Amino acid sequence: MSQPTQQRTESDSDVVLETQGVTKTFGGLTAVDDVDLAVEAGEIVGLIGPNGAGKSTLFNCITGTLTPDDGEIVLHGTTVTGKPEYEIAREGLGRMFQHTRVYGEMTVMRNMLVSAKRDGGIGSVLRRPSEEAREQATELLQYVGLWGLRDVRAGRMSFGQQKLLEFAMALMAEPDVLLMDEPAGGINPSMLNKLIEYIRSANTDREVTIFLIEHNMDFVMEVADRIYVLAHGEKIAEGPPAEIQENDRVLDAYLGRE
Ligand code: ADP
Ligand code: MG
Repeated sequence: MSQPTQQRTESDSDVVLETQGVTKTFGGLTAVDDVDLAVEAGEIVGLIGPNGAGKSTLFNCITGTLTPDDGEIVLHGTTVTGKPEYEIAREGLGRMFQHTRVYGEMTVMRNMLVSAKRDGGIGSVLRRPSEEAREQATELLQYVGLWGLRDVRAGRMSFGQQKLLEFAMALMAEPDVLLMDEPAGGINPSMLNKLIEYIRSANTDREVTIFLIEHNMDFVMEVADRIYVLAHGEKIAEGPPAEIQENDRVLDAYLGRE
């Protein structure tokens, strides 16, 4: 890299999210090992690798849930390493978790309203949801086909419907970049096709850059423009889906031959 990241201007690069030499250890285990990657505005980028490869840990380092032992996280050209989660979120990073996190006792609509973008301060937490938030929630629920279930308690919906709700909740904050950890995990094939459609339209119509971890190979090969592969915490490959599918190191990693 010829220039320090901080000096980069908009015209130099469309990179919205970057990890530079990110390392995270747990005791003696190096879960993420010196990982460099970059996601450009408008891309759908996949992150794959065998179980335990360090994918979720890397996501947690990016979102500020964990602090890396080494390396930097750069969002919109600014280093955010070590900042608290809510600040990183406020700078435009959204996320969906591997294990669905809707509020089961609240209605679908209420789940949406508590996910609205806040202008900060205690006042915004106590204030009634704005008309704007209601309109946005209505539009998003219609978009993911959950409008008819708006008054149902979220915990009563199917797992797939909860995933869609979580997706709509993430969009309430209007993220520039959305990190999704195994969005297709545990959902049925027809819901899977819907999810692909929604991810694509969020990407094109709402201009959300997508960075997703996925276990389902067909899904990730179909939806991603570009893929990074982790094994034992290290980045072992990157490229378009067609290349990744034929990459010997990737095959070896998945077959446990590494
Ligand atoms: P992946 O998401 O690729 O399946 P993870 O990032 O969840 O992998 O885990 C990477 C490695 O780090 C695994 O060996 C896992 O057991 C370990 N690990 C993850 N989180 C913790 C933690 N909080 N404490 C200790 N070890 C952890
Ligand atoms: Mg994981």
